[in-house]
Amino acid sequence: MQKKVNVFKFGGASLKDASAIRHVGEILQPFAGDSLVIVVSAMGKTTNALEEVAHAYWHGKPDEARQKLHDIHQSTTAIIQELFAEVPEELTASINDLFVSVEWALDETPNEEYDFDYDQIVSLGELISSHIVAAHLNAVGLPTSWLDARDVIQTDNTYREGWVKWPETEERADRLVPPLLKETNFVLTQGFIGNTSENYTTTLGREGSDYSAAIFSYCLNAEAMSIWKDVPGVLTADPRIFENVSKIDRLSYREAIEMTYYGAKVIHPKTIKPLQNKSIPLYVRSFIEPELEGTFVTDDAGDAYPPMVAVEPDQALINISTRDFSFVAEHHIKELFEHITTTRLQVNMMQNTAISFNVVVNDIDDRVERFCTLIDENFKTTVDRNLELITIRHYTPDVVESLRRGKVNLLEGRLPLTLQMVVKDVPVMRRKES
Ligand code: ADP
Ligand code: ASP
Ligand code: MG
Repeated sequence: MQKKVNVFKFGGASLKDASAIRHVGEILQPFAGDSLVIVVSAMGKTTNALEEVAHAYWHGKPDEARQKLHDIHQSTTAIIQELFAEVPEELTASINDLFVSVEWALDETPNEEYDFDYDQIVSLGELISSHIVAAHLNAVGLPTSWLDARDVIQTDNTYREGWVKWPETEERADRLVPPLLKETNFVLTQGFIGNTSENYTTTLGREGSDYSAAIFSYCLNAEAMSIWKDVPGVLTADPRIFENVSKIDRLSYREAIEMTYYGAKVIHPKTIKPLQNKSIPLYVRSFIEPELEGTFVTDDAGDAYPPMVAVEPDQALINISTRDFSFVAEHHIKELFEHITTTRLQVNMMQNTAISFNVVVNDIDDRVERFCTLIDENFKTTVDRNLELITIRHYTPDVVESLRRGKVNLLEGRLPLTLQMVVKDVPVMRRKES
């Protein structure tokens, strides 16, 4: 019988430099006899740096774009030289080819669609890291095949947010991955990237490598998926923002979906659903302390949870009212949602009164402006920006109270298990020196 596959995902923080990559090799040693599909993100902050390349290029600054790309090439080369006593020739060739292909692209006139150019450039990060990590694993005695994720993950052509074509992707995963796993126990591939039917590269949305791992897990009917993070597991809140957080040992798929959708950044929100559909367990584990158990996400995780908090920054509250002073009726809401869809606004909260409709959305690029322009003929809008959406699952009065301190609450919604508030900071009043 064929061995069950496990899927592991390593994010940018776990691959930030040569010693981090060595550490990933050490984490993988005990699994040498298992069939593993390993999904990697770009190293460290490479994706942010590549976004700057794409931005400069598309805004008519090709020299700046070339310089930024050159800097990324140099830091990549430095990592490779530190990692290998003798750099494998094929690795040098692959990395050089990848950089040259983007350098050439920078000589061309930008495409009409920014998102298209963005994906062709920014996808470089995962291609680079996957070649380096695969070469390292082979060098330390862990035979590993390199797989181009674009041969498997097929998407539509919504650049920067490709929608997965599941039947095509499943067919390719089934056809391409098992033969590689027969050759080597480990198959290593890229997170974040996919391919259109015209053979152009797409990306799945920032932080999308967790989602890629879930796509592979689903298509390969994996035994389990593990994502290795810089935290001990899923915590009651982001430790970068809150003190006294604690680890949750077991979490249901539903809780995980609710928390990640509203901004718990530890797992990409699209990750859970494919796993839930096939009851594939998810482990969120620490790459810093790999011997610890982490968080186990599964079907039946009980329902006694402590209060859990997710904070989503960069929110905009759009207050909409009709120009003809009529009530906001169903046909208005229909029109508004059509424009919400075309401008790709993500609505996190909404509330209506007789004469106004309020939506809270992620304030990305110029989407809010485009939406307001599109509805301008029939609706008046006012926009409040730089807001935070705080979501508390299993809320208690004291937690709500502590989170409200020093904030103005602009909108609030309560369900039995979830409380959400849209807040902005208020400067703390102090008595003037006399
Ligand atoms: P990756 O390297 O895989 O991309 P991320 O940086 O995206 O990992 O996710 C890990 C980070 O998520 C942590 O460093 C932590 O600051 C943040 N985070 C936000 N909410 C939570 C939470 N509820 N539990 C744990 N970590 C959280
Ligand atoms: N490298 C991509 C990003 O930084 C995808 C990921 O890391 O998940 O957004
Ligand atoms: Mg991430």
